Amino acid sequence: MLHQRLLGSADSLQKIIDIIPSPVFIKDEDHKWIFLNDAATRLLGGTREELLGRSEYDIFPAAQAALSWASDDEVLATGQMVESEECITLPISGDTHTMIMRKTLLHVPPGRRFLVGVASDVTEYRNAVAENHFLSRHDALTGLPNRIMFHEALNDAVTRGQREVDNIAVLLVDLDGFKAVNDAYGHEAGDELLRIVAARLKCCVRNGDLVARLGGDEFGVLLRGGPALQQAAERVATSICGAIAAPALLPQTQTRVSASVGITYFNCAQTKPEELIRQADLAMYSVKRSGRHGHKTYEPSLEATANRQLHADLLYALARQELHVAYQPLWNPPDGLLTGYEALLRWQHSHFGEISPRVFIPIAEQSGLIANFGAYVLRAACAAAHGWPEQVRLCVNISPMQLTDQCFAETVIQALTESGLAPDRLELEVTESRLTLDHEDALRQLRLLKEHGVQVAVDDFGTGAASLDMMHRFGLSRMKIDRRFISGLPDDERGYAIVRALIRLAHDLGAKVTAEGVEHMEQALCLMELGCDEMQGYLFGHPEAPRSVLTSQEAPLAVAVAR
Ligand code: C2E
Ligand code: CA
Ligand code: CA
Repeated sequence: MLHQRLLGSADSLQKIIDIIPSPVFIKDEDHKWIFLNDAATRLLGGTREELLGRSEYDIFPAAQAALSWASDDEVLATGQMVESEECITLPISGDTHTMIMRKTLLHVPPGRRFLVGVASDVTEYRNAVAENHFLSRHDALTGLPNRIMFHEALNDAVTRGQREVDNIAVLLVDLDGFKAVNDAYGHEAGDELLRIVAARLKCCVRNGDLVARLGGDEFGVLLRGGPALQQAAERVATSICGAIAAPALLPQTQTRVSASVGITYFNCAQTKPEELIRQADLAMYSVKRSGRHGHKTYEPSLEATANRQLHADLLYALARQELHVAYQPLWNPPDGLLTGYEALLRWQHSHFGEISPRVFIPIAEQSGLIANFGAYVLRAACAAAHGWPEQVRLCVNISPMQLTDQCFAETVIQALTESGLAPDRLELEVTESRLTLDHEDALRQLRLLKEHGVQVAVDDFGTGAASLDMMHRFGLSRMKIDRRFISGLPDDERGYAIVRALIRLAHDLGAKVTAEGVEHMEQALCLMELGCDEMQGYLFGHPEAPRSVLTSQEAPLAVAVAR
C-alpha cells in the first residue's frame, strides 16, 4: 500500500510531521527522544542531531524533567492516552510556557513500544484569558479591583463565613466634595485625585484585605478576621478618614476632600451580600446627612432614620426635579393594537438612585405630599398624551388619599384643559380600599369626573375586599386583574379559574378587563383564549421615559406570532 510505504520510510515521516506546527516527538521506553519535528526542535533549542538520544533531564531542571517522566510512565503503565499540563522553562530564552501534552503508546512489532507525544503551546491563550479576567475585574483608572470583583469576593467571603462563622466587615467609602473638584479643575484633576485616594486607601489596610473602586467616587473595603474585627474595622475607618482628608497635590492646584464611611458586619448566616452593601450604604448616607467626614456603623435603628430622611428628601424631590413619569404600554393582543399607556411615577434619588414607588408613594401618602405629586403626574402625563394618536388612552394611578382632597376633581379637569386632552382619553386607576368606599366625598368627585367623560378603572382587582361592592355601587369601566393571579397561568388551576371568573364577571357588569404583569407568551395566549380585552407587562414593554414612547406602534413580535 502506498501510504504504508510512505509512512514506512523515516524520511517521509519526518517530512510529514515537520509540517505540523505543534511540537511532535517520539521517545523510546528509556524516555530518550528518537524522533522530533521542527517545532519540537525549535522549542527545545539546538539541532536535531544534538537532541536525539537525549531526554528532558539533559535540558530542563530536574523537577520539570521528573514531571514529564512521570506522565511518560503513566502511559507506559496503563497503555492509555494521557493528557497533562506542563509549565516548562525554555533552555535558551528562559521564558516559561504552558503546554498541554498529549502522549500515547505506539506498538511496533515485534514487541517494541514507543511514546508518541504532541504538545500545544497555550501560553498566549492563557495570558489573554488571564488579562481579560484581570481587565474585567479591575478599574482602568486606579488599577484597583472593580465592583464585579468586590461582589465576587464578598460573595465568596459570605459563603465561607456561613460555614466557618468567620467575621466579615464591609466598609463603603464615599468622597465628600469630589464633584466640586471635578467641576472646578476638570476631569484630569478629578482622575488624579481618584488615583491618589486609591493609593491612600491601600495604605490603610493590611495585605489580604480588599480595596475596590465601586464606581464614581465610591470605594469598598472588605476586611476579614476574628473576634477583634470590629476594633480593626473602626481603626481602618478612622485611618481612611484621616488619610483622605490630607491635602492632595493635583496638576494645577492643591486640594482637600474628606470621606464618609459606612461600616457593617456579617454576623448572621441569612444575610445576603447585597444586604451587607445596603446596610453599609445606609450607614454611609447617615454620615453624609449629619455633616460628612467620619464613619458610622450600621444599626437597625438607621432604617427608621433613613425612612425619616427619605421623608425629608421627598419634600424636595419635586423642586430638585428628581421626579419624572415613565409610561408602560397597554396592548390589545387579538387586534395587535396599542391601546394606551399607564403613567408610573419615578424617583431618582441623588444618593440611593431609583427608588420604587412602592416605597415612596406610601411616604408621600402619609405626609400629604401625594396631592402635589398626583397633580404633577396628571399635568405631565396629560401634556404628553395630547401628542399621542387618538385611540391611545392615558391611565393615571390615583391614590385613595388624593380623593379625600376637595379639589381633586378640579385638579384633573385643569390638567385636561391645560393640555387639551379629551376627557374620554383619560382613565383614572383607583386601588380598591375602604377609604374610597366609605368616603362619600371621594365617590362624589369620581362621579363628577365620570360625568365629565373621564373613565375610572379599579386597580389590582382581587387584592382587597371592596372590589365587588365598589363595582356594584359605582359602575366602573375597567377592572385590572392583579399580577398575582396572572403569574401562575396557564398551569395554576385555581389562578386560571379565578381569572376566568373575573373576566366573565367584569364583562357581565359591562366593564373591560386588563391583565397586569404579563411576562410570558403562554400567559398571553391563555388570557386571549379567556377573552381578556387588554394586557400589560414586560412581554409587551417596560415602563419607559416619554421620549421612547410611541417610537413603535406595531404589535411586538411575540404578539404578532400569536395572532
Ligand atoms: P401598579 O399600578 O399595579 O403598576 C404596575 C406595576 O407593575 C408597576 O410597578 C410596573 O412597573 C410593574 N409591572 C408592569 N409589568 C410588569 C411585569 O410584567 N412583571 C412585573 N413583575 N411587574 C410589572 P411600579 O412602577 O414599581 O409601580 C408600583 C406601584 O406604585 C404601582 O402599581 C402603583 O400602585 C404605584 N404608583 C406608581 N406610580 C404612581 C402614581 O403616579 N401615583 C400613585 N398614586 N401611585 C403610583
Ligand atoms: Ca396601576
Ligand atoms: Ca396594578
